[in-house]
Amino acid sequence: MENLFIPVGGGNEIGASCYLYIVSGKRILVDSGIRFSKREPYPDFKFLKALAPELDAIIITHAHVDHCGSVHLLSNLYPETPIYTTHETAQLLALMVEDAIKVRYIAERNSSEEWKEYRLLDESLSRVERREFFDRIELEDVEIVLHPAGHVLGASSVAIHYGESSSVFHSGDISLSLQRTVGRAELPPEKASLLVLESTYYYSDRRFQREKDERELLETVKKSVERGGKVLIPAFALGRAQEILLLLSEGMREGLLPPITVYVDGLARDVSTIYENLLNRPLFNYYVQPAPSYQGLSFKEACRENLREADCILSTSGMLVEGTPSFIYSKLLAKDPRNSIIFSGYMAEESFGYRLLNSRKLLSAFRCRIEKHHLSAHSDREELEEILDTLTPEKTVFVHGYPEGEERNNHAFNREVIRF
Ligand SMILES: [Zn+2]
Ligand SMILES: [Zn+2]
Repeated sequence: MENLFIPVGGGNEIGASCYLYIVSGKRILVDSGIRFSKREPYPDFKFLKALAPELDAIIITHAHVDHCGSVHLLSNLYPETPIYTTHETAQLLALMVEDAIKVRYIAERNSSEEWKEYRLLDESLSRVERREFFDRIELEDVEIVLHPAGHVLGASSVAIHYGESSSVFHSGDISLSLQRTVGRAELPPEKASLLVLESTYYYSDRRFQREKDERELLETVKKSVERGGKVLIPAFALGRAQEILLLLSEGMREGLLPPITVYVDGLARDVSTIYENLLNRPLFNYYVQPAPSYQGLSFKEACRENLREADCILSTSGMLVEGTPSFIYSKLLAKDPRNSIIFSGYMAEESFGYRLLNSRKLLSAFRCRIEKHHLSAHSDREELEEILDTLTPEKTVFVHGYPEGEERNNHAFNREVIRF
């Protein structure tokens, strides 16, 4: 029987991850994300439905919205299909998708469309089947196993076993490096027939030097505070924010930072609270606190109040998307050269953060210091090559990236049909 792999979304892009596998006659869908772009935010569900009128299993690898942001819309199309994911992802996903809906309808608050999406989300959550890593999900002759992928809490890679001893390994977003909140990815021992590997940093020569970048970030915070300025660290709500929060606490404990007050705001605050429960360990302390909520103050006034109290604000969005808390904080800090804004990771081209870093005109309106330190939760090229060496796959296909040069040949484009 011919086996197929088709990226419905998330092939030659980062966003709207949605990958269909047809293995030994079973139809397995991995992830259902959204794009950052407002014009075409969803994977092509019409195309998917034409390829697979029914699905046997939906797997969500992790709770970043480029992997789960449209799960409720997908699940509405396949109401009979169970959604498998880890306990951690199941908890985080509810919050992340709800927030993505809120952001999408920011201009049409409380519209009937918005409420319909919340209802679909509730329905889809009732179809979630929580699994532990290494549990077996059996679909007759096909067996699915979730492996720890590192990256963020609950993130999994997906192994699909079929035939005598064949298997697909779908890496999902993966990291072999140890982080503060999550361990390293654990690869399966067997050789894969097909490896579908994320390539966020595969086409880049950048080598991650986490310790160096972390030291530099602490140094920037220290210098700003010493010259009487305030610091804004825009960060992704899930994963990055918690890593930076712990880094700041550690920095103070080790004397690399003077004792300062850090407020965690926006969605990062809510995700950090879930992390505390899931990790069963406190993330907040006397110095690092969730930003308080104020009665009777406008959002901007609340931000201003927080800036009076705190030395450093860690807030979403990581890309300074217009209207988000970090965007408002950045405007409040922009005029004073003693202040700093420290970016910490990936920025989509349409985001304000990307435009700010790449436009001289915009930059000149910001008199505060602007720095970028790279704290990634993805493997760099060296690590991705280590994965290739370990799994020695018969066939490798890259997804979740922007292919360049001759290496494009091994990259799967959206809607391409790959046989294995
Ligand atoms: Zn991710
Ligand atoms: Zn991703």
